[in-house]
Amino acid sequence: MREILLCKYGEIVLKGGNRKYFEDVLLKELRYRASFFGNFEITRAQSTIYIEPKDAEADLEGMFGAARRLFGIVAVGRAAVAEKNMDSILATAKAYLPPFLAGKHSFKVEGKRSDKSFPLSSPEISAQTGGAILSVMPRLKVDVHNPEITVRVEVRESAAYIHAGQFKGAGGLPVGTNGKGLLLLSGGIDSPVAGYMMAKRGVKLEALYFESMPYTSEQAREKVLTLAALVARYAGSIQVNVISLTHIQELIAKHCNEEYFTLLLRRYMMQIANMVAEKRGCEAIITGESLGQVASQTIKALNVTNALAKYPVFRPLIGMDKEEIVEISRHIDTYDTSILPFEDCCTVFTPRHPKTRPVLEKVEEEERKLPFDELCREAFESLEAFYIKAKF
Ligand code: ATP
Ligand code: MG
Repeated sequence: MREILLCKYGEIVLKGGNRKYFEDVLLKELRYRASFFGNFEITRAQSTIYIEPKDAEADLEGMFGAARRLFGIVAVGRAAVAEKNMDSILATAKAYLPPFLAGKHSFKVEGKRSDKSFPLSSPEISAQTGGAILSVMPRLKVDVHNPEITVRVEVRESAAYIHAGQFKGAGGLPVGTNGKGLLLLSGGIDSPVAGYMMAKRGVKLEALYFESMPYTSEQAREKVLTLAALVARYAGSIQVNVISLTHIQELIAKHCNEEYFTLLLRRYMMQIANMVAEKRGCEAIITGESLGQVASQTIKALNVTNALAKYPVFRPLIGMDKEEIVEISRHIDTYDTSILPFEDCCTVFTPRHPKTRPVLEKVEEEERKLPFDELCREAFESLEAFYIKAKF
């Protein structure tokens, strides 16, 4: 039995003149992802992209997952292909549909004949297919008004399709259609989710990870690279830039007032992020901050770091509760990696009593105890880049 996937795109159909461009981006990306799963033919017709395996080795399940993770696709349908005669349609329906109908109580069949030369009418196609399904799944009930699942049978010019239903896709806009952003990626739960959310709005991601060896470990870095690879399953390949803050943190710890450690560190991070964004052609900075989550994420504290930003700072989690963030991180499979217990540079030299309502002038005064620009330049020079190629 031949099975195909049908990808529906959502919002992008609204984009008027840009539509063709968006469709091309999706088609290209689906072809690229398909190359990981074997030989497929991918075509488009009437706001649907058809994915057809060309041989028995093609991994349709793998491709199904990869298509569902592609931003811009709102739903992925599955259908079996039958010959254009009722014998083939009924036999295919009986063989193909049971796993999709298992556990359901009611269904209906919607027959549709776009080839008007087909000898049966649409209601006749529906009735016969319904009967065939009941013959193999006698406990199911037909409910034409409020069915749990609707099976569609479509007779087209070239073949007949038995649809098993539609499965939710990733939604959003195709990655790369909304510029490039620099994601401040730590090993925590929040920042991978923040990256996922902006990629969903079409932003191509580049990442920046600050480490502080030997206070942070090689495993902490590996963990961040793993998280980048997991996000890349949605967002596409990501370059991860790694910068060392060891020297800066040691100097802050030695010379500055402890209450300001975290705020100062975050201002260094922002300034270095400006430099990396400029070098790498990023048009925005993305963080996983959520209002009030920790001392450095109060409005006043955010303003202290924001004051240095040269780019818009996107904080997609700002209004979300931790549980909501965790739910997304589980959905995108980053959670289990995020909770591995490796230290982050923000958790070394942490103040016992951090300032939650800092005054910018006071922070700047504290900052002047060290040669800020020079230290940023020195850190920037430590940049090491890792290209994380997306594996679907
Ligand atoms: P996360 O779960 O993303 O680590 P968090 O709740 O631990 O966030 P903070 O440690 O205050 O919060 O960090 C806030 C944001 O700053 C992070 O979401 C991330 O965008 C950025 N950030 C923190 N530490 C680093 C780091 N070592 N490298 C790069 N960015 C970082
Ligand atoms: Mg963190």
